[in-house]
Amino acid sequence: MSTKKEVMVFAEQHEGEINPISYELLGKGRELADKLEGGLSSVLLGHKMADVAMELVYHGADRVYLYDDAVFRDLNLLNYKHNMVRLAREIEPEIFILGATHWGRSLGARIAVALGTGLTADCTGLEIDRNGNFVQIRPAFSGNVLAHIRTKTRPQMATVRYKVMKSLPRDINRKGEIIRKNVEIMPSLLTIVRKERLDEVNIADAEVIISGGAGLKKAEDFSLLADLAGLLEATVGSSRPPVDSGWIKKEHQVGFSGNTVKPKIYLACGISGSSQHLAGMRESDVIIAINTDPSAPIFKIADYGIVGDLYEAVPKLIERIKRCRA
Ligand SMILES: Cc1cc2nc3c(=O)[nH]c(=O)nc-3n(C[C@H](O)[C@H](O)[C@H](O)COP(=O)(O)OP(=O)(O)OC[C@H]3O[C@@H](n4cnc5c(N)ncnc54)[C@H](O)[C@@H]3O)c2cc1C
Repeated sequence: MSTKKEVMVFAEQHEGEINPISYELLGKGRELADKLEGGLSSVLLGHKMADVAMELVYHGADRVYLYDDAVFRDLNLLNYKHNMVRLAREIEPEIFILGATHWGRSLGARIAVALGTGLTADCTGLEIDRNGNFVQIRPAFSGNVLAHIRTKTRPQMATVRYKVMKSLPRDINRKGEIIRKNVEIMPSLLTIVRKERLDEVNIADAEVIISGGAGLKKAEDFSLLADLAGLLEATVGSSRPPVDSGWIKKEHQVGFSGNTVKPKIYLACGISGSSQHLAGMRESDVIIAINTDPSAPIFKIADYGIVGDLYEAVPKLIERIKRCRA
């Protein structure tokens, strides 16, 4: 273990590609490590990823702990957790951060339990205060207050929302170490997340999102939004009520307890614009709303609005786009 305070970032990879959230975490990790006068490391588990590991150095890491084995091609919770817990015990990082993605959330909670430490989930800010304490900031009480949280146990673990931190510019002159670690494989594989699951919607990266809310009358009506999304190469999103009704999977949910998104275009169909929904999409470049109620709060932040029935407006949009393309 080094005597310097270490900040460690989990580098998430899917099929050999680093999830951009990991670069954002490295950007923030660099700032934290510098303030603590410590080091910044990253842990990467994958297969044949030595070149990719250098990318983590180019984005701020002083060293990368690389676990190379075919078992890490997909997220294998048991083996990911086992090896990351071993590493955390060995290097005893002061701070350990992961993305608030499906992988990061699943792993973070398991690792924290194994290490007997706390975990602050879904942070939107991380700081070192003037006394050198690590402060984790996250919305609380439906986003009405920002809680500032300090953890007594070590490592201080946090998951961080996507697109709230800034990555550093890629710098190929940056120097760092790639440290290959011995992989320990657990005897039985309890959970393998299959490729089909990884291919599930990644709404946080979508450039165009067509979202539906409680203004939809039934689950099948999401197919209307999917038709429009298909034409625009968009991703279908949702407010919480359709998710709670089981009409669409949670991965599609936008908002305080769902995903934070920042697409170029966000089209809200039959969504009133509650503060919890806005918390997840207000940073979108262009917001368009379709709602029968002219006083719906969504119109206050919308750049363009259609006061009308989505069941009339969406088919018209589809028809218009098809006609223009023809
Ligand atoms: C702790 C907590 C976390 C939450 N997290 C989230 C979250 O992550 N995401 C989220 O979305 N919500 C979240 N919520 C729920 C939130 O408070 C709202 O209940 C929810 O956002 C409302 O969804 P909605 O706009 O689809 O429904 P409603 O508020 O019921 O609005 C439906 C809208 O559809 C319009 N409408 C009806 N028929 C039509 C039609 N035919 N054409 C056009 N418009 C029509 C209506 O005028 C209305 O404005 C959370 C709540 C809590 C307490």
